[in-house]
Amino acid sequence: MEIVDCVCVYMPFEDGAEITEDFIDQLRCIELLVNDNPDCHIVLCGDFNVDFTRNWSHPALQSSFCDNVSMSPAHRHTEYSVDFTYNFDMSRYSTLDHFILSGILFDNCFQTVSVLHDADNMSDHEPVLLDLCLDLQYVSLTDKVHSPRPSWQKANAVQLSNYCGAVSENLSQLDLPTDAIACHNSGCCDASHYAALRWYVAGITWACDGACKNTIPVTRCKQRSGRIAGWSEHVKPLKEKSMFWHKLWLSCGRPRSGAVADCMRRTRAAYHYAIRNVRRKEEEIQRERFAQCMLNNDNRNFWAEVKKIEVTEVVGAG
Ligand SMILES: [Zn+2]
Repeated sequence: MEIVDCVCVYMPFEDGAEITEDFIDQLRCIELLVNDNPDCHIVLCGDFNVDFTRNWSHPALQSSFCDNVSMSPAHRHTEYSVDFTYNFDMSRYSTLDHFILSGILFDNCFQTVSVLHDADNMSDHEPVLLDLCLDLQYVSLTDKVHSPRPSWQKANAVQLSNYCGAVSENLSQLDLPTDAIACHNSGCCDASHYAALRWYVAGITWACDGACKNTIPVTRCKQRSGRIAGWSEHVKPLKEKSMFWHKLWLSCGRPRSGAVADCMRRTRAAYHYAIRNVRRKEEEIQRERFAQCMLNNDNRNFWAEVKKIEVTEVVGAG
């Protein structure tokens, strides 16, 4: 199962160094999002406030951003047919609204990008249409990539308490930007206040992130954990029995026949049969648990079961 994510953006209009810094910040946020979801196909869309035909700095930044994250703005495609998306009093025209697409979407799924110019449109922006063909042969090509995230529900009391301690410790290393905090001028243009507050915010983020990385367990990739549904109920007891008789049989010098050898063989066969059986029944067991969660109104387990089913489907598609 593949995901196509749509990210709506509204970027600031090019007007001075401070706005450009803001523009770059927005691009950084989008970059994090893109890098955090390597298994997703991504469409960025909205008012970017850049006209790629202009020789300004924001269009150049936007272009290099696209190359950096391996995405392509729709205007690079041969099937792109947009003349303008924005008008100022119907006297000046520019193309400020864009679709930017990740690799496979641009290369294989792109049909057209067009614009509607309707006389009854009250907005100064025109609606832009993206037509994608989400053929499964293209969008199911990539495998799910796991990026570990902090799992707060897995954290025990000690880990949570360690986290609190680490955050406090980290925060105590930050200097309070007292001048900026004490400033009550709502129209303040003091660059040093602005910089001090930004630095402080980054510091708080660092304090929480760092503490989290050192104390809180992370999510695991279910594919690699190799867990099988129903294992603990149906297989584990038989495995333990089989291991017990196997060890006993070893310590008796591996006899070919007799009571111990028979027991070893019988429990081993039962154990191996249970593995095959549980694999076959995995889907059935999952559905049963799923239904139970729904009947019991058990939200946490419900979503845990949904995730397991998703993973199974991804494995099946790959
Ligand atoms: Zn100030």
